[in-house]
Amino acid sequence: MLENIRIILVSTSHTGNIGSTARAMKTMGLSSLYLVNPVHEPDGQASALAAGAGDVLANAKIVSTLEEAVSDCGLVVGTSARSRTHSWPMLGPRECGEKLVQEVSNFPVALVFGRENSGLSNEELQQCHFHMCIPANPEYSSLNLAAAVQTLCYEIRMAYLNRETYPSVEEEYPLNEDLERFYTHLETTLESTSFIRKSHPGVVMTKLRRLFNRARPESQELNILRGILASIDKSVKAPAPEPEPEIDNDNESPN
Ligand code: SAH
Repeated sequence: MLENIRIILVSTSHTGNIGSTARAMKTMGLSSLYLVNPVHEPDGQASALAAGAGDVLANAKIVSTLEEAVSDCGLVVGTSARSRTHSWPMLGPRECGEKLVQEVSNFPVALVFGRENSGLSNEELQQCHFHMCIPANPEYSSLNLAAAVQTLCYEIRMAYLNRETYPSVEEEYPLNEDLERFYTHLETTLESTSFIRKSHPGVVMTKLRRLFNRARPESQELNILRGILASIDKSVKAPAPEPEPEIDNDNESPN
């Protein structure tokens, strides 16, 4: 169960933070670490700080984009020290731990952490179902990356130890790759109807992502939406109906 809870670090600068993350994870029973485009790959400094969690570090998967790291996940939570993300569905650390543990029996789930200096980009945050903020001191709310990972791994552990007390999740949610396919399809269809212009897409897609994220469509609902888009595509592509043949009635004029 805990091996399907993925900790993802995006473009980490300090390899020591990668090592400390591995240690934070292993002490709480987690083992699946993904590194998205790290500034430096794990080195001696990372191993030193990983201490007895060298196995978690050695098994870390390095990928080049966040999309790749979360494509097979059904729940993705992005973390942020800043409140810029309040427009997205938010979770507190405790709720976040509970949700990850509740849903992990259905599919892999992910918790995403940002860069030491600039956090996660807006585009990366938009790939997440929920955002999570540790309600730290408002005057100084930015934790060290590995300390933030430790805080969340602890909440996951507590939720895991109490897992019998949560109802199981019945809904079948799509994986991130299916959602991304839907967004690509939606954008293409909206371009074909000229609702959005390729050269000036504006914020429509961001707002639509927000809307669908909030609604969190189930797999069947997403299939219906894809079906609707396919039917629009079909009617947009259909050749214009043949004009009615003009009948020359002159010769048949009763006059
Ligand atoms: N200066 C950055 C903070 C980066 S801290 C910014 O303003 O976004 C590095 C990472 O640690 C963050 O991207 C986030 O993943 C995590 N983190 C630090 N403090 C946090 C907090 N209070 N709540 C949630 N995540 C936090």
